[in-house]
Amino acid sequence: GRSVPVSVSAAVEAALGILTSRIRALNAEVVCSLPEGDLLVRGDAVRLEQVLVNLINNALQAMEGSEQPRLEIAAAAHDGRVDLVIRDHGPGIPEQLVAQVFDPFFTTKETGLGLGLSISKRITEEMGGALHAGRAAGGGAEFTLELPRAESAD
Ligand code: ADP
Ligand code: MG
Repeated sequence: GRSVPVSVSAAVEAALGILTSRIRALNAEVVCSLPEGDLLVRGDAVRLEQVLVNLINNALQAMEGSEQPRLEIAAAAHDGRVDLVIRDHGPGIPEQLVAQVFDPFFTTKETGLGLGLSISKRITEEMGGALHAGRAAGGGAEFTLELPRAESAD
């Protein structure tokens, strides 16, 4: 993929746009905390959107049937990188499965393919970043996407 400065807020907006009808169907609250003044990362806009769609779609699926589905998306800059966190309020990933979720074909869903996270991890690493799975403070799942920061549109 290309490596150019990509707007984090534009990528988040695009991914949320693709998932609008699913967000509505679930009646999910979406809380975005992106810093004032856009952050730029180095990568490929379409591939970053693809990763975000995978992570957000997983988060929404994890909250199906939940009383108060809430999706949180937060971005923060740290020196040369940007951390983008996708957090949900579903059941979370059981501790013993955290190491496996990035394995190709690993799924706990009846009709899951188990490819979304393995592909997302590969795309992220190809952009010079990293993708980590963890547990959110409230008990849901939390995925952290670390991407190299781009300073300006060059
Ligand atoms: P799929 O969605 O087809 O199952 P993924 O690679 O996207 O494949 O995810 C692999 C597995 O990781 C899921 O089946 C699920 O067990 C776990 N997982 C991913 N995201 C979440 C999440 N937000 N909450 C809980 N479990 C998750
Ligand atoms: Mg998936």
